[in-house]
Amino acid sequence: MPRVLLVAATTGYQTRSFTAAAGRLGIDVILATDRCHVLEDPWWDNAIPVRFEEPEIAAEALGGMAVVGSSTIDGIVAVADRPTLVAALAARKLGISYHSPRAVAACRDKHRMREILGQAGLPVPENVRVPLDGDPREIARGVCFPCVLKPLGLSASRGVIRANDPHEFVAAFERIRRILEQPDIRQSHEEWNEAIQIERYIDGREFALEGLMTQGELNVLAIFDKPDPLEGPFFEETIYVTPSRESGAIQAAIVETTRQAVHALGLHHGPVHAEMRVNAEGVYMLEVAARPIGGLCARALRFAGRLTLEEVVILHAVGNMPDDLTLSSPAMGVMMIPVPRAGVFESVTGIEEALRTDGVDDVAITAKIGQKLVPLPEGASYTGFIFASGDDAAAVENSLRTAHSRLQFDILATLDIIAF
Ligand code: ADP
Repeated sequence: MPRVLLVAATTGYQTRSFTAAAGRLGIDVILATDRCHVLEDPWWDNAIPVRFEEPEIAAEALGGMAVVGSSTIDGIVAVADRPTLVAALAARKLGISYHSPRAVAACRDKHRMREILGQAGLPVPENVRVPLDGDPREIARGVCFPCVLKPLGLSASRGVIRANDPHEFVAAFERIRRILEQPDIRQSHEEWNEAIQIERYIDGREFALEGLMTQGELNVLAIFDKPDPLEGPFFEETIYVTPSRESGAIQAAIVETTRQAVHALGLHHGPVHAEMRVNAEGVYMLEVAARPIGGLCARALRFAGRLTLEEVVILHAVGNMPDDLTLSSPAMGVMMIPVPRAGVFESVTGIEEALRTDGVDDVAITAKIGQKLVPLPEGASYTGFIFASGDDAAAVENSLRTAHSRLQFDILATLDIIAF
């Protein structure tokens, strides 16, 4: 039986989605997660504990598992951004094809990525990295507006804020400082959290490209349109729909820019997820991640034989990539359900009605009852996901919006959240 090493930050729903996909394929999973060494298997899932803060040590431990029992490890999949470095280092030790440690590290560092893409001749927004303890009033004097301020090592648009003038700049800077003081971020001990990146705001329509690198060659799985305007001050992801409704020329430019970007970054083998903005000046690559699309969004893509993206990524990792990667329906999409407001999640109604919406395939509420919900820019999660498919992208977008309008979230405001 083929065996895949799944490196994941937590044992959350995205990880479960990958283990379930492996189960459906009859592929054995070894799970390595970032967690406390003191507790013996606290999650009762036989996961191997590793510390992402010490990637070399973690990779050494995983590298020692080249043969577990009677079978070898055939492939590696990293779920989310943080595990990619451990996965890349472990892949080297195990002699398995994957992205290089250098490439995945560059993908996780928003400043380094801009440098590499700029040197490769790709359009990048002017940007500067400033220390977190700098004086924002002073820094604002040298900035052109509008601009975007962002922490260097976070993801899912967490802490990304647009500022149109010096006053907004100072407020945004101080807000990011407070975000980076939050315990979950402090715990990660990443030096990136000591700086803020400031970039020129790039106007334009936004897209995402899902791809798989095979020994250095990019295979495009889908280009997603993001039909909701993302103009700030915060950049909440909502709807992704494929195929893109842009012209063939624009789609070709998106693919070509992504190809140049992944080559410049040195991404070699495994999933890639790229996000870009397109305007009259061309295609601006916003980021390239060395992993598949996040959250449960991978489920939005169904390939021939109804394979999900998780399944395709796992099959690719173990060297068994399906030949036919056409999408199983003419159009498909997902809505990441935003956190409507801060508070404690009490209940959700309307799921049945949302599920009955024409074209809707599934509604997954991932927030837990009693969970504290925090919207952007401080928060980092969605309340759930709606999946739809149909004959064309417009119909899919419409299904997602209709289903969303049928959901009502009951959220109890609490004093500490209001005072945040
Ligand atoms: P993350 O990795 O947290 O998702 P990104 O750097 O990709 O952070 O930014 C998140 C979102 O913020 C982007 O998808 C885009 O909508 C917006 N954004 C980021 N940088 C810029 C920019 N320079 N100009 C315009 N929008 C931007």
